[in-house]
Amino acid sequence: MEHKKEAALIFLPLAANGKPQHLGSEKTGCPFCEYAEEENILKREEDMLWVLNKYQTLQDTFQTIIIEHADHNKDISTYTVEENRNLFTFAIDCWAKTKKDPQFKSVLFYKNHGPLSGGSLKHPHMQIVGLKEIDGEAQIEPENFEGITVLSENNVVINFSSMPVMGFLEINIIVDSQTPEPTHCLADYVQKTVNYVLNAYHHGRCESYNLFFFEEEGKYIVKLIPRFIVSPYFVGYKLTQNFSEEHLLLLREEFLKSLLEK
Ligand SMILES: [Zn+2]
Repeated sequence: MEHKKEAALIFLPLAANGKPQHLGSEKTGCPFCEYAEEENILKREEDMLWVLNKYQTLQDTFQTIIIEHADHNKDISTYTVEENRNLFTFAIDCWAKTKKDPQFKSVLFYKNHGPLSGGSLKHPHMQIVGLKEIDGEAQIEPENFEGITVLSENNVVINFSSMPVMGFLEINIIVDSQTPEPTHCLADYVQKTVNYVLNAYHHGRCESYNLFFFEEEGKYIVKLIPRFIVSPYFVGYKLTQNFSEEHLLLLREEFLKSLLEK
C-alpha cells in the first residue's frame, strides 16, 4: 500500500463547549441572524460579514465564517443574480486575503448546506479556514476535476467527475480566471448548478450539498457535491463510488434541461 501522508486535523473538544452541534439546536436562536460579536468581525459589506469563528475547534488553524445574507432562510438558489455575484466577489476576496498570509500552509474554502452537509447552522454561511501545519489539499489530484463534459461555453467548463473524491456525483465548475469578471461568471454557473441539484437531481429529493473552492493555474474551480448519508464503502475502506458512464450521460441530459428551464 502506498500513501500520501498528511497528519490529521486535531479536534479540540473543550473549544467546542457551547457550540451548536446540529441544525435543530437553532431553536434557541440563531447567532447569525443578528450578529452581535462586533469584536470578531473581520470585514463587512452590506449584509455580508466575514467573522472569526467563536469556536476554534481545530488545532493550529484560523477558522472563519462568511455570513452570506441577513435572511436566515435564503440560499444561493434563492438569491438574486446580483446578490449571489456580490457574495462570490466578497467571499473570494476574503479567501485571497487569507491565502496571502504567510502563516498558513494552506487555506480551505467551502460551504455546507442542508442537514447532511456537515453544517450545524441553517443560516446561509461559508467557511474559510487557514491551516498552519497541514496542506489541506494534499489528497486532491488533478483527475478529481476531470470527467464527462456537461457544458463548455464562455470560458466555463462544467463536468461530472470520472474520478470523484468521495462520490457519487461530483460536479466541477471550472472558470478561466482570464475571463472578464471571473467571479461573477463563477457565481452564475454555481447558482444554476445548485438549482439543478436542489430541484431536479434525484427527483428533487436532494436537500444537502457542499461547495469546495479551489484555485489552480489560472482557473477557479468549484466542486459541488450533492450530499446523502456517506457510504460505509468510503467510511471503512476509502472506496469511492461513481455512477456508470451511461447513467452520467442521462444526468447530463437532465442537467442541461434544468438549465433551459431557468
Ligand atoms: Zn439566522
